[in-house]
Amino acid sequence: MSTDLVLTGLTKTFAASPNPALDDLSLTVTAGTCTAVLGPSGSGKSTLLRVIAGLETPDQGSVSIAGRDVAAVAAERRGVGMVFQRSLLFPHLSVLDNVAFSDRVAGMPRARARERAERYLDTVRLTGYGRRRVGELSGGQEQRVAIARALAAEPAVLLLDEPFSALDPALRADMHELLEAVRADVAPTILLVTHDRDEAARVADRIALVEHGRLLHEGTVADAYRRPGSVRAAELMGGRNAVPGRVRNGVHRSVLGEIAAAGVDEGPATLLFRQEDVRVDEHADAASLRIVGIVLVRRPTGARSELTVGAGGVELHAEVPSMSPLSPGDEVVLSVPEALAHVVAR
Ligand code: ADP
Ligand code: MG
Repeated sequence: MSTDLVLTGLTKTFAASPNPALDDLSLTVTAGTCTAVLGPSGSGKSTLLRVIAGLETPDQGSVSIAGRDVAAVAAERRGVGMVFQRSLLFPHLSVLDNVAFSDRVAGMPRARARERAERYLDTVRLTGYGRRRVGELSGGQEQRVAIARALAAEPAVLLLDEPFSALDPALRADMHELLEAVRADVAPTILLVTHDRDEAARVADRIALVEHGRLLHEGTVADAYRRPGSVRAAELMGGRNAVPGRVRNGVHRSVLGEIAAAGVDEGPATLLFRQEDVRVDEHADAASLRIVGIVLVRRPTGARSELTVGAGGVELHAEVPSMSPLSPGDEVVLSVPEALAHVVAR
């Protein structure tokens, strides 16, 4: 039941707002894969899902599912299931009848619809919960029922709009496992909106970064972290090191030294690397950028501490184990494996 989702040039401006909620956004999600959509609040993520689902009409652009433009197809006939942050279950129906709802609307006899609903309750690990009332469920269970209800309609495309953000971390981890099981079981094409990078990395195959309604970066999870397409994409992925420099003859020069920058335009360019990849006072491999600096700030973050280091006129960020004795004023040697650094234009 999986199928390609192809979005082309989607643009949507709401009457009340001067800026477009979606601005010429194109994105392809390959059949059976999961793309996580990350972006700041107000960047157009929910609007994107609502346009795909047919709950909003785009001003321009198209949504194509399994090779068919769905502009003229009503929301309920698009083969799209949607799960929202708040589950919006029907409180007067049992869990089973919530899940059986779409089959009942489609005219399926009650007994058969309930039988199918039982199967989807199994899929979301809620076997035996069918008789309960919605009010008797925990938040995590409610979201499981919402997912089962969406799956019961056998959508080719499953849209999840921050479905787990109201859950506590342990429940969220459960839901990630559940989503993995669902993917192994029924393999829908999934677009998951989240503001949680770790969730995206845990659940998705690819990451699409959206800001101001535009697609800023799209690629594998690993590339979103380690090879972001721009300084802003790196920032949105939580990357904290951006060192200015210049590219000449395919080589980037900055206070950290020289690094190959094939394919990057000549001129001003930024060296990007992640704070997690910076080694502090460690013996470096040959292929590493190195710089000596002074610890300016040390900030505890639990198991690790973040260091801000002044070096060569720039501020760099690194992480050390919480038992590290380093403190402000200490001299440190930072090294970054060249393979984990990445140059982008400007
Ligand atoms: P996100 O989900 O990324 O937080 P949204 O898609 O909800 O962003 O919103 C994108 C922009 O569109 C915001 O500026 C928001 O205020 C605006 N917007 C969303 N829905 C409507 C609406 N129904 N009417 C007017 N403006 C809207
Ligand atoms: Mg939203």
